[in-house]
Amino acid sequence: MELAMVCTRVSLLILILSLCSPYKFIQSPMDFGPLNLLPTTTTASSDFGRILFQSPAAVLKPQSSRDISLLLSFLSGSSLNKVTVAARGAGHSIHGQAQALDGIVVEMCSLPAEIDFFKGEGEISYADVSGGVMWIELLEQSLKLGLAPRSWTDYLYLTVGGTLSNAGISGQTFKHGPQISNVLQLEVVTGRGEIVKCSPSKDADLFNAVLGGLGQFGIITRARILLQEAPQKVKWVRAFYDDFSSFIMDQELLVSMPDLVDYVEGFIVLNERSLHSSSIAFPANVDFNPDFGTKNNPKIYYCIEFAIHDYQNKNTNGEQAVQVISSQMNHMVSQLYSVEVSYFDFLNRVRMEEMSLRSIGLWEVHHPWLNMFVPKAGIGDFRDLLMDNISPDNFEGLILIYPLLRDKWDANTSVVLPDSGSSTDHRVMYVVGILRSANPDDGCSHHCLQELLGRHRHIAGTAGARLGAKQYLAYHSTPSGWQEHFGRRWERFAERKARFDPLRILGPGQGIFPRLS
Ligand code: FAD
Repeated sequence: MELAMVCTRVSLLILILSLCSPYKFIQSPMDFGPLNLLPTTTTASSDFGRILFQSPAAVLKPQSSRDISLLLSFLSGSSLNKVTVAARGAGHSIHGQAQALDGIVVEMCSLPAEIDFFKGEGEISYADVSGGVMWIELLEQSLKLGLAPRSWTDYLYLTVGGTLSNAGISGQTFKHGPQISNVLQLEVVTGRGEIVKCSPSKDADLFNAVLGGLGQFGIITRARILLQEAPQKVKWVRAFYDDFSSFIMDQELLVSMPDLVDYVEGFIVLNERSLHSSSIAFPANVDFNPDFGTKNNPKIYYCIEFAIHDYQNKNTNGEQAVQVISSQMNHMVSQLYSVEVSYFDFLNRVRMEEMSLRSIGLWEVHHPWLNMFVPKAGIGDFRDLLMDNISPDNFEGLILIYPLLRDKWDANTSVVLPDSGSSTDHRVMYVVGILRSANPDDGCSHHCLQELLGRHRHIAGTAGARLGAKQYLAYHSTPSGWQEHFGRRWERFAERKARFDPLRILGPGQGIFPRLS
């Protein structure tokens, strides 16, 4: 065995003993041989949600997959410790999912940001990227070759490993599936410390387990992402509605036209503020000044957002394409707006909203978010449940609603979707994102935050029991809550955990499996 490795193992043993000791002595940066293991930082103890703050005992800044493998091999080979490990991507979780109380946080952004391209001539093109690379970096690099991933999230400052551990969804998902349906191969360091290259044809069970696997089975150190030719321009369209059923019917119409339409989302327009904030990135001259009613009798509206890529190749010009589609829609009279933007600006639109919120101190506030997958049959009832539990006049944030198609999701992955039930149209389901901000400087501190979280628990519990809805980016505070969440998929999830991370070292912040020694 190399001397460096022996030194590292001895150093790790000291670390483990220190972590297990009631007198933790990691106070300053320490030299753990070639492993870059540092004392905890506030960054590693917090996330975008700003709801939970759990300090790890140490932070690992890996330089290679081998560093991570060394750490996990050591921990899984010793019965002396109960140390846990969480991979941390960009830390954009809401409920401490990338945190590890008294454990070790592995900062994935420290891995060298490698992106290698394979441009196929008449074949598929792909990029091999490090797990800590952010999607914005991949977009910038791939556009230089005229290529781009097919499936996105709305916000691009998230890591490849972080979104693949959940699903990665946006308005392209109806057409190309979630990001986890657009991966050809992964390199994973399992909870046992093994470095495994897996794909649908090699170690497929690990591949499927890790996709949507909430960081429970292994740490994604590299991913092969499918690419397509990048469009140059995007025709970006918004249409307003005062009626929920027309809004829903038109969304379903749009996702039934994948040859014409490339992106479909939608949101509720609750008040003047939500109209203004949702328009920050949309560079059209929107002349929509509706009557929002009164506090006791509020009136709300809906907006569909869709996009058409590279319409030049579709034998028609952009205006004609919008005309063909919108002539079949039932939006409010003359409330349809369209604008042409570059593909990059379209994909990076949330960055503009981030900058605007940062400039007024509203980015680094609490984010009690709730995301749910809702079966099509229950979407009207879900809307009513939602409106019974929020006040449109004081809601800060955005409520997204858009359709997804089940057959674009692979049932072998770890993602939990609602059961399709006996409805005649199994294909469509909805995602609803209640993306709320709670600003302590505006009076929403501890008590108010707890009240909002309680409301979200109520919505999630009621929608789960009555409508069969499931949380996306789920948070459950007990292992039994998780078992209920997984339902009939629980046994497979637990069996995969026993195989790939038998001591339950990984992903403690999710609160699914207590650590074993
Ligand atoms: P982290 O928060 O750092 O980690 C998330 C989980 O993944 C943790 O359990 C962590 O341990 C695990 N993990 C991280 N890296 C790895 C790895 N390399 N290997 C294994 N496990 C790992 N999601 C969507 O699907 N669509 C959206 O449009 C969308 N928009 C968003 C917009 C904003 C402003 C924010 C804050 C979040 C948004 N999200 C969206 C949610 C986002 O996809 C998840 O929170 C995702 O986990 C964030 O990635 P991250 O790199 O910050 O992961």
